Amino acid sequence: MAQLSDDCFAHDQRLMPLDEALALLAERVVPVTGREMVPLGDGVDRILAENLVTAIDVPGHDNSAVDGYAVYFDDLEPEAETRLIVAGRIAAGHPLRRAARRGEALRVFTGAAMPAGHDDSGPDTVFMQEDCRLDGDSVVVPPGIARGANRRGAGEDVAAGATVLEAGRRLRPEDLGLAAAIGRSRLPVRRPLRVALFSTGDEVRDPGAALAEGAIYDANRYAIGALLRRLGCAVTDLGILTDDAAVVRDAIAAAARDHDLLLTSGGVSVGDEDHVKAAVEASGTLTFWRLAIKPGRPLALGQVDDGDRKVPFVGLPGNPAAVMVTFVRLARPLILRLSGASQVAPSLYPVRAGFSHDKKPDRREFLRCRVSRAEDGIPVATKAGRQGAGILSAVSAADGLVELPEEMTYLEAGTLVDFLPFSEVS
Ligand code: AMP
Ligand code: MG
Repeated sequence: MAQLSDDCFAHDQRLMPLDEALALLAERVVPVTGREMVPLGDGVDRILAENLVTAIDVPGHDNSAVDGYAVYFDDLEPEAETRLIVAGRIAAGHPLRRAARRGEALRVFTGAAMPAGHDDSGPDTVFMQEDCRLDGDSVVVPPGIARGANRRGAGEDVAAGATVLEAGRRLRPEDLGLAAAIGRSRLPVRRPLRVALFSTGDEVRDPGAALAEGAIYDANRYAIGALLRRLGCAVTDLGILTDDAAVVRDAIAAAARDHDLLLTSGGVSVGDEDHVKAAVEASGTLTFWRLAIKPGRPLALGQVDDGDRKVPFVGLPGNPAAVMVTFVRLARPLILRLSGASQVAPSLYPVRAGFSHDKKPDRREFLRCRVSRAEDGIPVATKAGRQGAGILSAVSAADGLVELPEEMTYLEAGTLVDFLPFSEVS
């Protein structure tokens, strides 16, 4: 199991552009999860622990791509119809039990193995049945077909010895199909990242509890918990820790013992009431990354010592919209890296801004937006509601985040901007 280095999150107090933060994480964060074997059917969303190499060709033999008639191309009249006796029948899974012969046609069905003939030759071309005419025991085929038409070659999908899936890939349903096609019934995957999740703040209550004056319900822990589970993490919900130094310190030290990551939101600013900072520093290190983003700074990153293990700690901001931004853009790649994934950066897509917007320079700004198609077919973004960092309803109403680059000072309606769909990161 790999270890994080001593000062894995150390950074000076400059305002840090997002790309620099992501580069630092890429450089310093290594996978910490072990590996296990799982049945193929349980592999979706798991992270492949080693390259998957196929021992077999797929398909395993030359076969017909259509229902029709297999022939020797060299038997065909180039300029006229050709009449051939239909001398055999080959269905998928039922190969011809004899060698094919020159001058005959063979009834074939999709997936049926192309038979071998004598010598090195064999039927090499297949007519679609729609293009043929039956006449008694014979089939009449038209001129003009290309040699090799409607035939699929052995190994044309994947050839024996090829790496079909690479270590670090988060497995999609299509990948399970591919793994099955090469005959794998079990897959080597990374163990799920064990994440301890908690909230802090004397004002924060669990939904269902009575709401005292000045209190709020814990929105963040539920949103983050679901995001983590979608990333394949094994989440331990530590609940809400009260703003009490000893309580927070003990909970963090205990959680470090059997988790790979500690994650919280809120309570990591520099106010007197925030005990998380002191608790992490009691048994490790904590750094505040002053990110040049809006919303979302600061982000607290640290390590809690557990014997000679160093367990990373991530403190997201408290404001719910800032939670979402920092989770999908920073915590998510960090978590995927710790989990052993190699592809951690989400894809952004260009959309047209359906609004104008004033912006401060030198920071990246994230707007919660909906996207719909304009009459010309181009996707157009509109703001999904008020853009305050505490406005959760706009996060819920949004399809994703419009990202405005650092150098921009004014967004003119109609400009193409980057859009990160939430579907891309969940
Ligand atoms: P803090 O980071 O603790 O200063 O909190 C910033 C804002 O986020 C405050 O308005 C908090 O009440 C709010 N907040 C903190 N934790 C949560 C939470 N778990 N769910 C919803 N809002 C929160
Ligand atoms: Mg607080």
